[in-house]
Amino acid sequence: MAEQEIDDSNENSVIRHSGRTDRKNAIFRAVNLRCPNCGSGKLFRAYLKPMDICSVCGEPLGHLRSDDAAPWLTILLVGHILVPIMVASEASDILPMAMSLLIWPAAAIILVSLILPRAKAIILGMIWFENAPGSERQ
Ligand SMILES: [Zn+2]
Repeated sequence: MAEQEIDDSNENSVIRHSGRTDRKNAIFRAVNLRCPNCGSGKLFRAYLKPMDICSVCGEPLGHLRSDDAAPWLTILLVGHILVPIMVASEASDILPMAMSLLIWPAAAIILVSLILPRAKAIILGMIWFENAPGSERQ
């Protein structure tokens, strides 16, 4: 865990971190949709839009870009979760065709909407930990 120093020199007390956290902790914080640096501030200001800077520690986050990695990871995870269940269900002929046409697309949409922000958070956490500049910064 990173050491924290609390700067009380101004009215807006800001938590400053003297050391970076480890990779596992940074990714864990990001998966919980929190700033990978402090774990307190929000990572996203909208569904998939990262905060420009962390509201708690001031860490710049807006320049981090995951590009196609988050959708790729989401497809990988949703496919591995849903396809075996669908195949088993269809092979055993448990559901009528009309139910299958309703349930599987709805399950896919729900899983994607839950996993995509966390997949992006994992990628952003790894990029942040590696101190990669991101494509928005020179
Ligand atoms: Zn923070």
